Amino acid sequence: TNRTFTMIKPDAVEGGHTGAIIRMIEEAGFRIVAIRKTQLTPERAGQFYAVHRERPFYNDLRAYMSSGAIIPMILEKDNAVADFRKLIGATNPAQAEEGTIRKLYARSMEANAVHGSDSDENAEIESNFFFAGTEQY
Ligand code: ATP
Repeated sequence: TNRTFTMIKPDAVEGGHTGAIIRMIEEAGFRIVAIRKTQLTPERAGQFYAVHRERPFYNDLRAYMSSGAIIPMILEKDNAVADFRKLIGATNPAQAEEGTIRKLYARSMEANAVHGSDSDENAEIESNFFFAGTEQY
């Protein structure tokens, strides 16, 4: 088995797409290992996206990611990281393929509905950012 980390971002939670997105995730063969609902402070959003701290969109991203509730999840499936990136589609929804989560639910490059880890290593770091070890079963 193999795991990835995702969160449903504020635009999609606010837009009422949580159920539809979780349904797509389960129908694609992912098992939900851990799930919660929470809201990031700007400080914690900045920590989560610290790799982007030199990018021009960093301050906006921090504000956006702390603007409402998010739903972090740990997912399990063979080849989880790569298969999940395929399911969500390109960062920019204008370039996301038909049938992907972002094509269906993203509003913009920034408010793009979901996050998906880009490596096994980051999946573990990001999972530990939101979940205690005892929750990760
Ligand atoms: P994520 O890490 O959320 O799965 P990603 O790997 O597709 O997304 P990254 O390049 O890691 O994209 O960027 C992280 C997030 O920062 C994006 O999901 C998006 O919300 C935001 N972002 C990235 N590029 C831009 C941009 N040019 N303008 C505004 N926001 C951006």
